Amino acid sequence: ASTSPPDLILLDIMMPEMDGYEVCRRLKANEHPHDIPIIFVTARDSTEDEEMGFSQGAVDYISKPFRPTIVRARIKTHMSLKIKTDLLENLSTRDGLTDIPNRRLYEDSLAKEWARVARNNMPLSLVMMDIDHFKPYNDNYGHGAGDECLQRVATALHAALARTSDVVARFGGEEFVALLPETDAAGAYHVAQTLQAAVHDLALTHEYAPTAAVVTLSLGVATHNPQAPHQNAEALQETADQALYRAKANGRNQIQVAPAGTPR
Ligand code: GH3
Ligand code: MG
Ligand code: MG
Repeated sequence: ASTSPPDLILLDIMMPEMDGYEVCRRLKANEHPHDIPIIFVTARDSTEDEEMGFSQGAVDYISKPFRPTIVRARIKTHMSLKIKTDLLENLSTRDGLTDIPNRRLYEDSLAKEWARVARNNMPLSLVMMDIDHFKPYNDNYGHGAGDECLQRVATALHAALARTSDVVARFGGEEFVALLPETDAAGAYHVAQTLQAAVHDLALTHEYAPTAAVVTLSLGVATHNPQAPHQNAEALQETADQALYRAKANGRNQIQVAPAGTPR
């Protein structure tokens, strides 16, 4: 299957097997392609049909016989709208400095995954990460170097996550978070090790950190499952934060996992 979804769909209403309205309904009900604009093309041109088309979520309605120049003009209009919509969507969910997902996208994804967890009883894990001794890095190498360090760390974290359902986002400042759907505590610990190594292997010199000679992370892991249930997504987030706090207190450059059976 193709990995890039279509930008625009032209849909005939009268087709064998399934009519265009039904195809449209099913596309709109889908998680992913629901935001692809749909234009109905049809020989039916009653006002009711046109209304029906728009009520199913179509952006436009073209009746046959059509003039190619008019169809082309309408497609051009909707393509340009679609490009702008996608651009806005991208701007509002990406972090401006690092270009990885921002906290807003993370929080939306967490809410969605939490709803899924409630339905299908799968585990869900979070890894909270914070760069160690980043203030002295900024103070000594300058804010520009600090920004570049954040970009390199973000890119490395993003590249280290293999599964497409995983989300790694900039949580704020020098903090990052990984959201790992359908991942149990053992799996999350493994991912945390991978993330820690990815940053360590960048080998970004940090002469002003008492912990190590390079830039390192502290990581806190929390998992929601029947053995360690959480009241809500915020509670899971809080558990991961506490684990991160222990990683800091315990000497930094390490992973701490929330103990199993810590219901909240
Ligand atoms: P710890 O090991 O306890 O995490 O110590 P720390 O120095 O990393 O933590 P602290 O919270 O004291 O400092 C975080 C620093 O991150 C302070 C701030 O200047 C820097 N910072 C936050 N956001 C940005 C940014 O966008 N760019 C740059 N260059 N620095 C940032
Ligand atoms: Mg911090
Ligand atoms: Mg820090």
